Amino acid sequence: MDKTYLLAIIIFFYILVCYLFSFAGRKREIGKRRLFWVSLFLTPVIGFAIFLGSQELKMNSYIEKKYKCERCGYVFSDYHENCPFCEKEGIKHELKPVNQFMT
Ligand SMILES: [Zn+2]
Repeated sequence: MDKTYLLAIIIFFYILVCYLFSFAGRKREIGKRRLFWVSLFLTPVIGFAIFLGSQELKMNSYIEKKYKCERCGYVFSDYHENCPFCEKEGIKHELKPVNQFMT
């Protein structure tokens, strides 16, 4: 078999593997396109390691501490002693700290 032809097949399958693997990065922090380029130039083994690290990073950044008013249902990102909206109506209502999952 012609060596150039064989090499072309190997390169084609290598890119195909990287391309299919990149789909796994779609729902991750790293993203599909970046995972594809990392896999292509640094081999899919390193791409997989980054993929696993990327998943962990997302878990941390997707929980945010918020403060919710149970009276009006409004969620604040900054701490207030009383709900500013309810306070305008003359009612003092304490805010409850909640962990909100970001979408
Ligand atoms: Zn309120």
